[in-house]
Amino acid sequence: MIMMVLIYSDTEKGALELLSKGRELADAAGRKVSVVITGPDAGSRAKRFIEHGADRVILAAPSLEGFKAEEIADVLEGIVKDEKEDVILISSTKNGKELAPRLAAMLDAGCVTDATSIDIDSGRLRVERTVYSGNAVAKEEFASTPAVITVPGKAFDPLPPDPSRTGEVIEAAVQPGGHGSRIIEVKKMVSEGVNVEDAEIIVSCGRGFKSSDDLKMLEELADTLNGVTLGCSRPIAADLKWLSDDHWIGLSGHKVKPKLYVACGISGQIQHVAGMRDSGIIVAINKDPDAPIFNSADYGIVGDLYQVIPKLVEALKARK
Ligand SMILES: Cc1cc2nc3c(=O)[nH]c(=O)nc-3n(C[C@H](O)[C@H](O)[C@H](O)COP(=O)(O)OP(=O)(O)OC[C@H]3O[C@@H](n4cnc5c(N)ncnc54)[C@H](O)[C@@H]3O)c2cc1C
Repeated sequence: MIMMVLIYSDTEKGALELLSKGRELADAAGRKVSVVITGPDAGSRAKRFIEHGADRVILAAPSLEGFKAEEIADVLEGIVKDEKEDVILISSTKNGKELAPRLAAMLDAGCVTDATSIDIDSGRLRVERTVYSGNAVAKEEFASTPAVITVPGKAFDPLPPDPSRTGEVIEAAVQPGGHGSRIIEVKKMVSEGVNVEDAEIIVSCGRGFKSSDDLKMLEELADTLNGVTLGCSRPIAADLKWLSDDHWIGLSGHKVKPKLYVACGISGQIQHVAGMRDSGIIVAINKDPDAPIFNSADYGIVGDLYQVIPKLVEALKARK
């Protein structure tokens, strides 16, 4: 299989993560990896992608501002056909998930969403994705190219920048066609500014807490650990509304990958674990020794969080 890799993400961070996997696939086949960037300031951002592993940066549709899936799909379809790209990697953001199946249909290509592993095995492109709320891993193989694949955030780490890398910057002539939809208004999501997805340490609460006032205890633990972000299970954000959705971790919340994740009074149902299983070290505090969270934990403390957390805070303060 010839392996020309094309990358598109609606966020720079996403594109850099895809680039490291794209680089690996292209290197294995001795081929090139290209990144498509659109919009008026695309040229000024090109160097960063080359430093992170791109052979080529394709600047397209400078008149495009904002994101409209049908327009970006037109642009990518033109580039894939002109440049004979085989593998198209797209970030699994909300925009990316709207774009990928649309593009695959236009190219008459196969499409796999949320791939967590992508490899070439005996010349075949194979991907893995978690299914059934993370209870099983589906292994899938593309029977043809082009292949369209979306990848969730943090599945791959960006390559370290290499300022000495060189690459091509080219302009693509493709333009989006006319479409019936119009963006009437863009509203910023109301947010507390909490970013669990980039947090290095998260202490997280679940229904083991009896009242919202008791979260002060968790905040104290967070303060002792310096600059920690608070996370929570779904019931705390969605049902009890003790914390905003910004803190909600899991299948339907945020997917996180901190160095340390401390789960307090969280049972560890698969939908929660799906959002935090990639954390570096997982510590669980739960009074039920059979709680499923202990299956995912590196360190488990069986006990009442109302006794364990104050002791932990005391011990951490003493160490300082
Ligand atoms: C489609 C779908 C999507 C979902 N998405 C998500 C998601 O994104 N994120 C998510 O979190 N959930 C999600 N859920 C819900 C999920 O299935 C669980 O219901 C939820 O995670 C349970 O939250 P919890 O662990 O806080 O509460 P519980 O399951 O009630 O667990 C509370 C835990 O606290 C322990 N406990 C109680 N008192 C104490 C104490 N004093 N000291 C120590 N431990 C104590 C208990 O032993 C228990 O294990 C989803 C469900 C569905 C169906």
